[in-house]
Amino acid sequence: MQPSLTAMLPIPLVDLRAQYQRIKPEIDAAIQRVVDSGQFILGPEVEALERELAAYCGTKYAVAVASGTDALELSLRACGIGPGDEVMTTAFSFFATAEAIISVGAIPIFVDIEPATYTLDPAALEAAITPRTKAILPVHLYGHPCAMTEVARLAKTHRLTVIEDCAQALGATYQGRRVGSLGQAGCLSFYPSKNLGGYGDGGMVVTNDATVAEQVRLLRTHGSRQPYHHLTVGTNSRLDELQAAVLRVKLRHLDAWNEARRRHATSYGEAFRRAGIDQALGLPQQRPGCQHVYALYSIRSRQREHLKQRLIMQGIGCQVAYPTLLSEQPALAGASRQAHPWPTATTIAQEILSLPLYPELTAEMIDRVADTLAQAISTR
Ligand SMILES: *Cc1c(COP(=O)(O)O)cnc(C)c1O
Repeated sequence: MQPSLTAMLPIPLVDLRAQYQRIKPEIDAAIQRVVDSGQFILGPEVEALERELAAYCGTKYAVAVASGTDALELSLRACGIGPGDEVMTTAFSFFATAEAIISVGAIPIFVDIEPATYTLDPAALEAAITPRTKAILPVHLYGHPCAMTEVARLAKTHRLTVIEDCAQALGATYQGRRVGSLGQAGCLSFYPSKNLGGYGDGGMVVTNDATVAEQVRLLRTHGSRQPYHHLTVGTNSRLDELQAAVLRVKLRHLDAWNEARRRHATSYGEAFRRAGIDQALGLPQQRPGCQHVYALYSIRSRQREHLKQRLIMQGIGCQVAYPTLLSEQPALAGASRQAHPWPTATTIAQEILSLPLYPELTAEMIDRVADTLAQAISTR
């Protein structure tokens, strides 16, 4: 059989141009609408996006901010977390999770993860509670919800605030409820490569708590409600109208895109089985009652570095998220008070590898990734 032409093309980790090509008329019209309006910061598009995302997440309020990092930091501040407070979070996440805790003056307490979902291990969480613990910051890593029933139980018993880092998980559900609606506040990121990505930076806080919403609203505009009257010291963390207009177009497609991601994840599993390597690779798992949205499709292998090289040689994008635990980051040396062991996170950081996954991926591409991995495994 003739190899098809597309068999030669590189397969990127994500392909935002392919997505744009499919929704170009809608996006172009939305951008033009904003440019014509002459209003660029916190206008009607942002307000509409806030209403639409609150409805989507199942929360009463949503407040748009400039990034996911700001959503975390301003949520912590709005919930009264500050100097000396301990905030428990995962040892295995993007740096911003820890950075937000430190930037409000609080102390991150890093906790180990579950081997099946790579999210916070509730038993480790419980063991890390001290009299100074004020909050839990669960991260729904790769698009899979944390064990929120256990998180909520601990929060209730010990009177802790729960702030969800949903930067990778918009649309994921936990027992039928969307992430972001399960704690005091949910933090979204619209970084371009996230499941709902803008054409620049952006973020949002979703919450059912009127006071938290009001506080974040105040903090994002220099602590003022009316011009030149400042009630508190906040910051500049506003979303712009162009981002909001683009995001509103994309939000209409989000469920279909997340559905496509789930289909591709299933197809990867089937392709690995056909190639006889499904047992050799640790495949992503979905906890019963959870819906995964596969922001990243991450496999595990002890031959991670070898597989990574072979994929790159074949023009297939891949990524290690994350090679280093938060607790081991040079910037955080000494920032965390306790030296808990993180055996699972340590192993996962050595073995994890994310493969290309985006809605526009084709069956042919998935087969090529599987074949490349199968060859790499047999040539070891
Ligand atoms: C992307 C991300 C953030 C930060 O979001 P930005 O919009 O890039 O500031 C925070 N936490 C996690 C887990 C992320 O993946």
